[in-house]
Amino acid sequence: MNIATTTSSIPSNLDLATLSQGLFIDNKWSPSGSGNSITVIDPSTEAVLAHVPDATVADAARAVSAASNAAGGWRDTAPRMRSEILRRCYELMIERSEMLAMLISLENGKALRDARSEVAYAAEFFRWNSEEAVRISGEFGIAPGGANRIVVDYQPIGICVLITPWNFPAAMATRKIAPALAAGCTVILKPASETPLTAYALATLYEDAGVPAGVVNVLTTSNPGPVTAAMLADPRVRKLSFTGSTAVGRQLLGEAAKSVINCSMELGGNAPLIVFDDAQLQTALDGTMIAKMRNAGEACTAANRIYVQAGIYEAFTRGLVERMSALKVGNGVDPATECGPMITPAAVEKIERLVADAVKGGARVLCGGIKPSSKGFFYPPTVLADVPSQAAMAHEEIFGPVAAITKFTTEDEVVANANNTEYGLAAYVFTSDLARGLRMARQIEAGMIALNRGLVSDPAAPFGGVKQSGLGREGGQHGILEFLEAKYIAATF
Ligand code: NAD
Repeated sequence: MNIATTTSSIPSNLDLATLSQGLFIDNKWSPSGSGNSITVIDPSTEAVLAHVPDATVADAARAVSAASNAAGGWRDTAPRMRSEILRRCYELMIERSEMLAMLISLENGKALRDARSEVAYAAEFFRWNSEEAVRISGEFGIAPGGANRIVVDYQPIGICVLITPWNFPAAMATRKIAPALAAGCTVILKPASETPLTAYALATLYEDAGVPAGVVNVLTTSNPGPVTAAMLADPRVRKLSFTGSTAVGRQLLGEAAKSVINCSMELGGNAPLIVFDDAQLQTALDGTMIAKMRNAGEACTAANRIYVQAGIYEAFTRGLVERMSALKVGNGVDPATECGPMITPAAVEKIERLVADAVKGGARVLCGGIKPSSKGFFYPPTVLADVPSQAAMAHEEIFGPVAAITKFTTEDEVVANANNTEYGLAAYVFTSDLARGLRMARQIEAGMIALNRGLVSDPAAPFGGVKQSGLGREGGQHGILEFLEAKYIAATF
């Protein structure tokens, strides 16, 4: 495989020193109490990009205090004003989109075209929630007994701790920050240590958009367990919104339970992608490439198990091999790249383990499958056919550019296989039979179903999972509700 890598890929317009100068608390950059730092690596070249401060429990308490001091003012800011500020965040993100996309590609490794899509998607959460901020309504009714009126007022839930993963460093942050601010909450964001620079670049943007001091605070730490536990134990904190792995989500639910903190959880996935004999072959292949290869497979919604009906199996597999082997692998920031590196060496090792296990169980490698020796954390686009249902990759997130294909015969069989997982985030169905598509949508246990397409994410739609893929929804009209509490007033007048 030919990998087009270079050793240095920092574009001259990126000021990494500004983005790594401190924790962002109260609209000021401040050093961490520990004096220690976290090293940020370019996964395309393995070069050191920057060192960001490593926050302590005491730093986190400072951030909670800043959020607490700002809470009353922000809650009482007129919705129209909050809306205008969010709208300005959207406009500034669009103005700075090329810089932000470069930064994402640099620290995450994703292909620039994927990073550009992420910035557009991430910015849209500001626009959508600027519109939602002025649409928070209440309820008014008569108690069935007739003695009083039932008035329901939606109030901001309070100070929120937001924790985000590295795979969408901008979008996972704005998907939480925008509805939280629209609802009138103040927040502390803890981004992933692998991709902190995007979170700090966004911090400069909030300030420029007019977000008051203390409303959004950002801190990075290599010690997320104790730092988060301390924030959740602080009685001023009322909400945890987490996006990340199911394993960490479970731990955090346990931690939040100690103070009965309201939780939203966007967790891992194991999406089935099902192609029926009657599917349009080109549509199915186009959709599969998006569902599998967006972010080089490092997406919670990535098609993890590809089930193809016997009659279309050969043609589909051949078509997918053609497309996967034609992908250009290279540095994230190279505009020609279609598949960048994985985030860490550990991510590559996990993929190697899963592929070896599947092959041992009888899977056939049709392309890729061998890690290159070049610098950077690369794994090639790979297609495996005849992946057995007991293979580890049918039960764990691959989180990489490996398409795992399994043949099926009947609808009942594929529904049973699709649901044979603890996860339930997204699923993809390709069929020309609309009734069958809707029947599958009803039967598959997932929060989101894509019918004849490879993408579900949309800021205007409720994103989230069932089973161990999560609790709550982000986006659409549901997103802001996660940051509001219904207050009931029984009124006699
Ligand atoms: P992760 O769970 O390892 O980390 C997520 C975040 O949690 C990071 O900021 C990390 O520093 C922090 N963290 C880790 N341990 C912690 C602890 N003990 N206490 C508090 N915080 C802690 O996940 P990741 O590897 O960064 O991201 C990949 C995972 O995220 C995948 O499982 C993917 O499916 C999932 N994901 C889900 C969605 C969704 O919307 N459902 C979106 C993107 C990613």
